[in-house]
Amino acid sequence: MTYDSNNIFAKILRGDIPCQKIHENDYGLAFYDIHPKAPIHALVIPKNAYENFEDFCHNAKPEEVLGFLACITKVTELLKINTSGYRLMSNCGEGAGQEVPHFHVHLLSGK
Ligand code: AMP
Repeated sequence: MTYDSNNIFAKILRGDIPCQKIHENDYGLAFYDIHPKAPIHALVIPKNAYENFEDFCHNAKPEEVLGFLACITKVTELLKINTSGYRLMSNCGEGAGQEVPHFHVHLLSGK
């Protein structure tokens, strides 16, 4: 796997382009999806360079995985969807329709 450091989420992480930030910690950054597919549509990405879920699972250090999961659960609290419910999904690979080659999870709620 070769990570493309010019992908749009890498640019957001570098601060080259803006995002509508919800939360960040040492390992993750969460922001609103630019084309929401539900009333609440957030994206959570790891701060380090992983192409997709497989890459993250095989190569991230345990503290990165835990920190990333903590970022997700903080977002569900902040958006108050931890009690109402939400869908968490990730497209892995072009065959699944992954458009941005930096690992991300979608958090969808409200519909
Ligand atoms: P995927 O198809 O799983 O790779 O999803 C990529 C998601 O990134 C899509 O839902 C896009 O709407 C979203 N997206 C693309 N560019 C941006 C951006 N600059 N800021 C926020 N979300 C974006």
